[in-house]
Amino acid sequence: MKMAAAGDLIVQRPEGLYCPAGDFHIDPWRPVARAVITHAHADHARRGHGAYLATAVSEGVLRARLGAAITLQGLAYGEAVMVNGVRVSLHPAGHVLGSAQVRVEHAGQVWVASGDYFTSGHTDDVNSTCAPFEPVRCHCFITESTFGLPIYRWRPQAEVMAEIVSWWAANAEAGQASLLLGYSFGKAQRLLAGVQAGVDAGLGPIVVHGAVAPLNQAYRAAGVALPATVLLDAVTDKALLRRALVVAPPAVLGSAWSRKLGGHSDAFASGWMQLRGARRRQGVDRGFVLSDHADWPGLQAAIAATGASRVIVTHGYEAVMVRWLREQGLEAGSFHTEYGEAFEAEDGEAPAAPAAPAAPAPQLLSG
Ligand SMILES: [Zn+2]
Ligand SMILES: [Zn+2]
Repeated sequence: MKMAAAGDLIVQRPEGLYCPAGDFHIDPWRPVARAVITHAHADHARRGHGAYLATAVSEGVLRARLGAAITLQGLAYGEAVMVNGVRVSLHPAGHVLGSAQVRVEHAGQVWVASGDYFTSGHTDDVNSTCAPFEPVRCHCFITESTFGLPIYRWRPQAEVMAEIVSWWAANAEAGQASLLLGYSFGKAQRLLAGVQAGVDAGLGPIVVHGAVAPLNQAYRAAGVALPATVLLDAVTDKALLRRALVVAPPAVLGSAWSRKLGGHSDAFASGWMQLRGARRRQGVDRGFVLSDHADWPGLQAAIAATGASRVIVTHGYEAVMVRWLREQGLEAGSFHTEYGEAFEAEDGEAPAAPAAPAAPAPQLLSG
C-alpha cells in the first residue's frame, strides 16, 4: 500500500525515498543530484550520485566502494546541517560501522528514515562493533522490516558467540579448519569481535578472506578492537589451517578458494538461519542465528521508542508489520524499495547458486 499526503517530508519516488522540501534523496537506487546515505552496504549506497552526505565514520568504506573521487560530506552523529532549509542529522543505527538513521526536520515536522538497524528484545544486547542503535523521537518513522515476523527472536549474542567458539574448538580438536561464512562488511567484523574468547583460550590462527581484510582495517582505523587476523596466502605452514577459524563471505562456498583449506567444517552466520531448512538449503554443516538487523521484539521496541504516530515500513515482511502496527492504533503503510534483494552480488557477496531450486531468494541475501 502506498501512502502519500501533501506536506509529507519524505515520499517515494522511482529513484528512491525523496524529501521534496529539501530536494534530496535517501539511499536512492538510481543516480540523483544529492543523496543522503544511511550506510555503505551496496543496496543502500550506490554509485553515480552528484553529492553524498553520510557519517564521517563511514567515509573510508564509502570511498573504497564508490570511488575515492566522490563528492562526500561527512557528519558526526548528531551533527546537523541545513539542506535547502531542511534540518538533517544522522543518528546511530547499530547495523554496521558508520550506519545511521536520517532525521529530517522541517516546519515543525520530524521524520526519521531508519536505514537498516540492529536492536533486539534483549535491550542491553548491542552491536559492539559500531555505535549502538539510538531511538530518535519523531512524528513519522520509516522503518526497515527485514525480520519483521514474530518467529524472529534473537538469542543474546554472547550465547551464539559461545556456540561458535565451541564449534571452532571441536573442529580444531578434530584437526579440521572452521570455515565461518558471513557478509564481509559488518557481519564478519562482528564475528571476529565475538570470538575473542576463543583466541584468549589459545585457539587460532584466524584467517580472513581478501574481501574481509580491508573492512577489518576500516574498523580498526575507527578504533574497533578485533583479534589479529591473517590472509590465507600468508599462512605458510598449512598445518596451522587445521586449527584455524576462517572468516569469509558466503560466495566462497564450494569455490577453489575454500578447497585450499583442506578438510573443514563450514557454517553460515545469518538471521535467516532461524528458518527451518535454511542451513540445509545453503549446503553448510552448521547455521548460527546472528543478524545485523532488528528481530521482531527489537522492531516493536524501536518503533515504540520513537513515539511516532505514523510508521512506514520498507524492505521485509511489510504486510505483516503494517497489519500489526494498525492493530496497535498507529497509522501505518509501506514504501516499496529496491533494498535488500539481489544487490549483495555487486560486492561478490552472494553465496554460490543454491543446490535446490526451491530455495527462496531471501535466504541468499543480507542478514
Ligand atoms: Zn545494510
Ligand atoms: Zn538494507
